[in-house]
Parts: sequence; C-alpha cells; structure tokens
Amino acid sequence: MSFEKLGVIKQLLSAIKDLGYEKPTTIQTRAIPLVLAKSDIFATAQTGTGKTAAFGLPMLQRLRNVPVGKGRAVRGLIISPTRELSIQIYEDLQNYAKNMSLNIAVLVGGKDLETQQKIIKEGVDIVIATPGRIMEHMEKGLNLSNVEIFVLDEADRMLDMGFMKEIRKIHPILPKRHQTLLFSATYSDKVRKLSKLILTKPAFIETSKKNSTVDTINQVAYLVDAEKKAALLAYIIGSRNFRQVLVFTRTKASADELVVELKKDGLKCGIIHGDKTQANRLKTLNDFKEGKTKVLVATDIASRGLDIEELPFVINYELPSIPEDYVHRVGRTGRAGRDGMAISLIDIYEKYDIRDIERLIGMKIPQETVEGFEPDPTIRRRDQDEIKLKSEHKKAEVKRVRKAYVKPDKNKKDATYKKPVTTKKRKTTKRD
Ligand code: AMP
Repeated sequence: MSFEKLGVIKQLLSAIKDLGYEKPTTIQTRAIPLVLAKSDIFATAQTGTGKTAAFGLPMLQRLRNVPVGKGRAVRGLIISPTRELSIQIYEDLQNYAKNMSLNIAVLVGGKDLETQQKIIKEGVDIVIATPGRIMEHMEKGLNLSNVEIFVLDEADRMLDMGFMKEIRKIHPILPKRHQTLLFSATYSDKVRKLSKLILTKPAFIETSKKNSTVDTINQVAYLVDAEKKAALLAYIIGSRNFRQVLVFTRTKASADELVVELKKDGLKCGIIHGDKTQANRLKTLNDFKEGKTKVLVATDIASRGLDIEELPFVINYELPSIPEDYVHRVGRTGRAGRDGMAISLIDIYEKYDIRDIERLIGMKIPQETVEGFEPDPTIRRRDQDEIKLKSEHKKAEVKRVRKAYVKPDKNKKDATYKKPVTTKKRKTTKRD
C-alpha cells in the first residue's frame, strides 16, 4: 500500500516524503480512507503506531480549503491529555501541513492565556489543546460552533486523568453534524462508554490485540532487591553501553532520588516530572534528544507524548501502579516498527504486580537475574511472610466489611444498602 493509493493529496505526499515516511503503517492504511470518507472512527492504537498521521493527514486534507470571505474559524479540534503530547501533535501537524496555508495553534497550560487569545483572534483553522486549557478559552468566548472534525487522542489516559467532565462540556458545544475520531491505546469500559456518548455509527479499527505491547519490543524483567536497583541500573547502562535510555519511576520522589544516585555513578541524566516547569521539561527532553544526556528519568503522566525517534531502550526502574501504564511506557520504544527493548527491575513486592501486567498484555515476561545482583533469599523469605500476612489480613478485612453491610428496611421510603464507614485509607501513590 502507498499513501498515494489511500487518496492522500500531493501537498501532503511531498511533506511526508521529506519526513522519510515511505509507506503507511497499519493504522494509517485503515484510518485514512475512513476519515476522508467523513466516517466517525473508534481506533485502538498504541503509541508509536503512527496514529498522529492516521488522523492528522486526512484531517488536514479535509480542511485544506480555507472558506473565503467568512474569515477563519476553528474547524478542526484535537484534544489530548498532556501538554507534551499536544505540542508533539502540533509539531507533527505543522510538518505535514508545510505546503498548505492552514493556521494551526496549540493551546496548553503553562503558556500565557492572553498570547494564545491573540493567536486565536488572528484566525486559526485547527486547534490542538489539553482539556483544561480549552475550557479556559471556551469560558473566554472561544467559538467552537464551526468544528467539522473533533479528535480525542489517548482517550483512555484522558479518562484516567479525570477529564470526563471536560469532555462532557466540550462535546455539546460542537455543531450537531461533525466528525469525531476517538483514539485510545486500551479498550476499557470507560472508553467504551465514552464512545457511545460521542460517536455516531463509528467504524472500528483495532490495529493490535487488546492491551498488547508492540510486537517488536523484547521484554525482560530482572529480579533484584529494592536497595540494589540503582546500582543495577547504572551497571546495565554502563556495561551494555546504552547511548540513550528512558527510565521510569513510580513517583516524583523516587525519580529525584534515582537521579542523585545515577549522577554519583557519573551518568548524565535529565529528569521530567510534574513538579518541573513546562520550559524545563522541554529543555530536558531536547537535551536528551540531542544526546547531551544519556538517561532520562520520568514519571508516568509527565512522560506522555514523549516522542523520541528510534529510542532503543526503556527501563522500568519501578513498575507502574496501573498495569495499563506499562503498555504506554514500553510503547516509547520499538516505535513505527523499529526494534526496542523494555527492561523491568522488579523487587519481591513487584513480582505480584507483574502478574497483573502479564494478564493485561496476554503474555509472560521472562524473569532473569543479573550476576552480582541476585536477590538475597533471606530478604525474600521475610518479605513473603509479610505479604502472606498482609493478604490474610486483607481477606479478613473484606469479610468484615461485607458482614457490616446493613440490609435496607423495606418499609422505609429511601431504603438503600448502607456502606459502613471504614477507617481504611484509599490506596494512592503520589503520581505525576
Ligand atoms: P505516533 O504513533 O503518531 O506517535 O508516531 C510514532 C513515530 O512514527 C513518529 O516519530 C512518527 O514521525 C513516525 N511515523 C509515523 N508514520 C510513519 C510512517 N508511515 N513511516 C515512518 N515513520 C512514521
């Protein structure tokens, strides 16, 4: 298949040729003709599959003619969960549209609202925005009544981040007849519900198995004690001469601690997490892309949208607290069909978390040890006893809670089952 055969026009063909795209990826082959035919689509596609061009190219093609006389209006709206991803989409679209006269704007937080308003006033055809910032602009009078194409990218992540409220507010403001393209890496119940709300007779595109990781990624887990993880990580990077490696931690605090440790080992590191400013994140990312730093340590949410070409290695210093994030993390490597490797460093507690991930991706991740970093078996025994105790305690707690549910009194008008108040804390991790 070629882009030409999919019906892509000359201006776009020459732009993507300059980017080195020779033939369309699977998602592009399937989505482009459908988007051009004005169909709503519901696509499950992982990061790295070429999904930005899958919606971006036909969108630009459909909106290429700027209406004369009426002045410019927002006709294309793309909502994505994070600033980084929005900026990435913006840069991709600018590249694709370089032979067109469309005005494209990116509206994200961390940038001056008034400057963005000025840009809107001058006339834009396509807007890429995060949910929070688009709401702010809507409150200040941004007109979305001319939107013809509405894209929700990484919808699953958007819902995980609690943006359903914003989507529910944006959707009714759009004109009745518009085309909606929904992209999601995973196929959760929440996403399915959202699709029912916003899509009309959608075409379904499933480019890979549900929640599966990209085929070309080699995955391995090394068993190691928690306190030896930093040393093992430095050893892997050094002994295997990794040039560029993206390392994920579960929390901001452990990202900070890890960078201190790696710097002691003489490794040049960058760090991206929610406490860093937008300008700082972009600079860190650029330094990494340009090879000024070898290691980029990131937390899950801050890492969304990072597109680093030919990234060969991703290391999970800690497994994510949500199994779906594993798919997103390892999707940073093996992009667009290239080979990649994902290494997870797992301690005794994470051995249990990895089972949930394996269940989600439908495959086993081989578990190995690295000579000199084998886990201490005595620690293992002690911890296993602790885990057993904890799980027994948990079971007893569940039983107690179930018993405590009070049957409603049928004679009472507003009778409902009452959930007893427990003092158990909600399980949270400080993410972002
Ligand atoms: P995405 O999934 O949109 O984040 O794209 C992942 C990476 O693949 C980006 O660096 C794109 O520039 C690149 N890419 C997208 N489509 C193609 C293609 N048809 N051929 C080669 N690279 C591509």
